[in-house]
Amino acid sequence: MTALLDAALGYAARGIPVYPVHWPRLLPGGASLACSCPRGPSWDRPAKHPLVRHGVKDATTDPGRIGRWWRRWPQANVGLATGVVFDALDVDGPAGLAALRQFAPTADLRLPGPLVATGGGGWHAWFRPTGLGNRPPRGLAHVDWRGRGGCVLAPPSRHVSGGSYRWLRGLDQAPLPEVPAVLRDLLDPVLPTTTRPTRTVGPDMAGHPYGRRVLAGELAALGRATPRHRNHTLNRCAFKVYRYVASGLLDDAEVTAAFTQTALAIGLDPAEVGRTLASARTAGLANPRGVPLVAWWSARSRRWRSRSPSTPCAASPKLSRSCRPAGAGCSPPPSTDSCSPRS
Ligand SMILES: [Zn+2]
Repeated sequence: MTALLDAALGYAARGIPVYPVHWPRLLPGGASLACSCPRGPSWDRPAKHPLVRHGVKDATTDPGRIGRWWRRWPQANVGLATGVVFDALDVDGPAGLAALRQFAPTADLRLPGPLVATGGGGWHAWFRPTGLGNRPPRGLAHVDWRGRGGCVLAPPSRHVSGGSYRWLRGLDQAPLPEVPAVLRDLLDPVLPTTTRPTRTVGPDMAGHPYGRRVLAGELAALGRATPRHRNHTLNRCAFKVYRYVASGLLDDAEVTAAFTQTALAIGLDPAEVGRTLASARTAGLANPRGVPLVAWWSARSRRWRSRSPSTPCAASPKLSRSCRPAGAGCSPPPSTDSCSPRS
């Protein structure tokens, strides 16, 4: 029994559906590795695409079928279906790690569960399944979520770069944790908002709290505008806010109603208000803007740092609050290594 088959059967015994994936094989001459498939180097997912026709849809926990697969392809990499027993946070390259580090120390995001170092230099942090599908966490660049319908490669699969997938914290070393609430917030779809116009920017107004804060700030700025600058201020403030409407953080109709009300209250002409808002809206909707995580959390971060001295990061994936964005003592950087259709 090869280590790969052994591992595949071990995952299946835990209820994780498994399927075989192409592997890196030595090119003639033995100097470098290439995908085991005949497609050649132009194929963009070497040693990551499935050996079975339907890919992850063919994944199974049936030991007999798994045995047949790995007897046919003893070197096959081990692909796992996500969303059944676990979901995975896929940290892709140094940029993904930097995004997480920027987020983690301020938002108390910990990754206490099973953790894989991917063969290409990335990480997969395993969590209990969320029921969500594959999606990037909002605002975290180069980080991805593998949930229902998704898949990842698992140890001891090998990467075409020559590295191997390995456990930094194994399944027997840590239980699968729930997804931290702050991360879950970034994964949940933005809820559809109501179109009922409201007169105030209060907690009952639809939209993301950050968006509501921006709206309240811009309405206040408009309220302070001097007579000569009222129309220009309306244009500038409304443009800013419509950008968050474009990214789904605020409701279009509510924003329009709120600006109209404030603009009329400071004495602008209704026709002028209509024209200016229409123009600001067109420009704003064409330039979506999401929640800037760094800004959002920096206040918390400062508060937190003043309370707790930093401790040096130990071995590998300390994404806990002790890691600083600069990451002097923290290790690894990333590159995506999952086996879903895209890279
Ligand atoms: Zn291939």
